[in-house]
Amino acid sequence: MRDPLLDFCFRRNDTKKDMPEKNNLMDKIVSLAKRRGFVYPGSEIYGGLKGTWDYGPLGAELKFNIKQEWWKTMVRERDDVVGLSTSILMNPKVWEASGHTAGFTDPLIECKICHQRFRADQEDIIEEHEKFHSKEGKKADWTEAKKFNLLVEAKIGVVEGEKITVYLRGEITQGVHVNFKNILNSSRLKIPFGIAQIGKAFRNEITPGNFTYRSIEFEQMELQYYVKPDEKESMRQYEFWKNLRLDWYKSLGIKPEKLRLREHEKNELAHYARAAWDIEYNAPFGWKECEGVHHRGDWDLARHQEFSGQDMSYFDEESKEKFIPWVIETSGGVDRAMLFFLIDAYAEEGERVILKLNPKIAPYKVAVFPLLANKPRLVELARKIYDDLKKDFMVAWDERGNIGKRYFSQDEIGTPWCVTVDFDSLEKDDVTVRDRDTMKQERIKIGDLKSYFREQINK
Ligand code: ATP
Repeated sequence: MRDPLLDFCFRRNDTKKDMPEKNNLMDKIVSLAKRRGFVYPGSEIYGGLKGTWDYGPLGAELKFNIKQEWWKTMVRERDDVVGLSTSILMNPKVWEASGHTAGFTDPLIECKICHQRFRADQEDIIEEHEKFHSKEGKKADWTEAKKFNLLVEAKIGVVEGEKITVYLRGEITQGVHVNFKNILNSSRLKIPFGIAQIGKAFRNEITPGNFTYRSIEFEQMELQYYVKPDEKESMRQYEFWKNLRLDWYKSLGIKPEKLRLREHEKNELAHYARAAWDIEYNAPFGWKECEGVHHRGDWDLARHQEFSGQDMSYFDEESKEKFIPWVIETSGGVDRAMLFFLIDAYAEEGERVILKLNPKIAPYKVAVFPLLANKPRLVELARKIYDDLKKDFMVAWDERGNIGKRYFSQDEIGTPWCVTVDFDSLEKDDVTVRDRDTMKQERIKIGDLKSYFREQINK
């Protein structure tokens, strides 16, 4: 019998197989990501686990910066939004109420030739597979589509036979809604207000692939914004959040022509959704969803009220009305955002490979080099500058090879500025700062470096 674990193992050419051949750019990104420590295949030394990825030192930094920028825009800079961090494991009734146990499904079909399973609605991947068999002179034949539930199960409990089945949350949304009353009772928020959360979610995806784009374990960053149950006002809020979220990606450097808003077709729309648009990125594997903006009506709170027996309504002091608020949701993937930031930033100029990442999210902001590694006075001053900058920024140190090579190496990981300490620095208290994108160099006083970088980052 075939080992079921093997079906889930990462095979060396998996990422290639999942992507059309023209995806040369994806090959380059996957290889750079592994070589420079952004992303590695999950549990690689054991053959991997399909649909799981580990983030290396630079990937962890980039992901952290993306989340931090999101949190800043969505929570810290707003008076009407608070943050929350809820459990991955929840009472299984939550998922009954939210409709996930019954309806969180994708249509699954199986190839009758090789028994590989696919999502019936992913036409590009199916076409690819049919082409693969037709090259072998075979005509693909498919089983009827059946519903496949995406929730990942886990068992908890200490007594064998009495363990209960729980789910690793399929979305981070429900942790927010079940705490709606807790937030109301422990804060002074008044409607309209929002609750934001970042955290892991898990889905038993039928066809994980396209590198980190579709994984089994991934991170989401979401806002649930509660508004009055009023058509006009809720649509006004909806438009506001839709545009704000699109602008956020642009403000962090994604090329505007690579982004679009797409309204859900009638058959894509969840039955309770009053409006749904996706923010999509034009990836090498097609226009793909990066984030969804959904008008969820009163679905979540009304269902939790029904299933828990608890009152989930809101009392408006001004109008003396009691109602179940409506919800506008913005739901983005951290891993997808990071992948699209990487793709968008990738550039080749002559022999240079550059990640033109916005300085706000670049893993390192600055790299510091002594011009020559065998001149103790240069090394000493460079170290001093490095140690001082480290207190405020993520800084890299490099003293290997020649300066040109060091620049190239930093360009490839997106470091916006390189500081070189040379003999003049010893006399004049200044250094050369070289810009990643323009390659221009300027002399800056050592004492001005911090304010210079701060200004450039916040431009
Ligand atoms: P898709 O249609 O691509 O399966 P979805 O519409 O089911 O996505 P949502 O449920 O709206 O996705 O989830 C919100 C966000 O979470 C998505 O926009 C995406 O960025 C992220 N996300 C969802 N599923 C995955 C996954 N399997 N891997 C990585 N990120 C994901």
